[in-house]
Amino acid sequence: MTTPADALIEHELNPWLSAEARFNEAAERLEMDEGLQKVLRTPSREITVYIPVVLDDGRIEVFTGYRVQHSIARGPAKGGIRFAPDVTLDEVRALASWMTWKCAVANIPFGGGKGGVICDPHVLSMTELERLTRRYTADIIEFLGPEKDVPAPDMNTNEQVMAWMMDTYSMHMRHTMTAVVTGKPLDLGGSRGRPEATGRGCLFVTLEALKRMGLKPEDTSVVVQGFGNVGGMAAKLMARREFKIISIIEWDGAVYNAKGIDVEALMAHRKQTGSIVDFPGAENIDREQALYLKCDVLLPAAKENVITSKTAPHLNCKILCEGANGPTTPIADKVLADKGIFVIPDILANAGGVTVSYFEWVQDRQGYFWNEDLVNTRLEEIMVNSFQDVVKYSDTHRVHNRIAAYMLALDRVAFAIKLRGLYA
Ligand code: NAD
Repeated sequence: MTTPADALIEHELNPWLSAEARFNEAAERLEMDEGLQKVLRTPSREITVYIPVVLDDGRIEVFTGYRVQHSIARGPAKGGIRFAPDVTLDEVRALASWMTWKCAVANIPFGGGKGGVICDPHVLSMTELERLTRRYTADIIEFLGPEKDVPAPDMNTNEQVMAWMMDTYSMHMRHTMTAVVTGKPLDLGGSRGRPEATGRGCLFVTLEALKRMGLKPEDTSVVVQGFGNVGGMAAKLMARREFKIISIIEWDGAVYNAKGIDVEALMAHRKQTGSIVDFPGAENIDREQALYLKCDVLLPAAKENVITSKTAPHLNCKILCEGANGPTTPIADKVLADKGIFVIPDILANAGGVTVSYFEWVQDRQGYFWNEDLVNTRLEEIMVNSFQDVVKYSDTHRVHNRIAAYMLALDRVAFAIKLRGLYA
């Protein structure tokens, strides 16, 4: 039986309601026209497809797939495709709108989109996954294209899935079009620096926050939750800049060393043993205790809804750099503001990934590939400018950084819509 307390928690953790709450506050503060709010709230297009696939044993299964294009006002829709058993249209819709706001904060010429297929990729063979990916791509093909909608990997999809999508699209077009998806293998039009991009972006915005607070990297302690692509890369790059990574938290345990963990040695340990725990260069600690450690920077980079009305009161950091998407609930935002924590919100902090995806799309269309230094320099420029733009909105409108980021994004998308006018 669902109790009123359960219902309240469910309400707090609903991603669509979280996105809505931030949107509403930002639109209200901008005194945005109601009609324009309706346009910005509503996705441009939602596509549902039923994907028949012949399984390896000869049976036919039908999977449900979605692609939501939230906005194409500033450019082609951009956003990942996830394969998971619990994908819902509501979730894909919320994530698509997040992509619109993220691309607008980074000021890159994309709208927002997201896709998902309801399936359990862990029980499908590689050949079944390939057939599913190709049929899904074929079923939404008229909505895809370098000028229309450019997917990327997300939960349970990877470079190989992107290669299959690119190939399927190209076979239908009768010529190779690498710019239709990003996150491809390097040999098929992928970009240098993409695997590190999100973590590197977190590093750049954290460095900006430190300057603002008069802190130096060598005097800065960091706790990282999630030692995967984003958290692992961020921790490694921060350690190379002399940040002290005092704790890393994973799903099966946490490790702590007040003097700083040797991140690359921890990566080697995990590769060898399959876990971060029992690392000789640190002590094992309780995961919850690790999240509440006194530190300068807390970097959640695992999953959504980690910082809630329950956990936020116990945080002990000065800066919260949101590597993950949606790690903080709107109720927790208020607690963080009361505690004076400087939040670098997800739509700014983890925008490095989509920024280098944009570079990949640009390079594919140019047919000219950049070296990694150029990718990183241009990434730094965009992350620093985006940080400054958000902070300027925060100072001018006297709001905390998350609402400032939403206000900046809404303003940019609304401006594009006004310039274009409504086609009737
Ligand atoms: P990943 O799967 O590579 O890494 C996630 C890590 O978190 C894994 O090591 C996993 O074991 C760990 N983890 C899972 N549950 C945990 C828990 N309860 N406590 C501690 N650790 C836990 O995924 P990723 O690509 O690094 O993505 C992480 C987050 O960043 C997600 O929210 C994702 O949407 C967001 N993000 C990723 C990118 C990107 O480029 N990869 C870009 C933008 C946002």
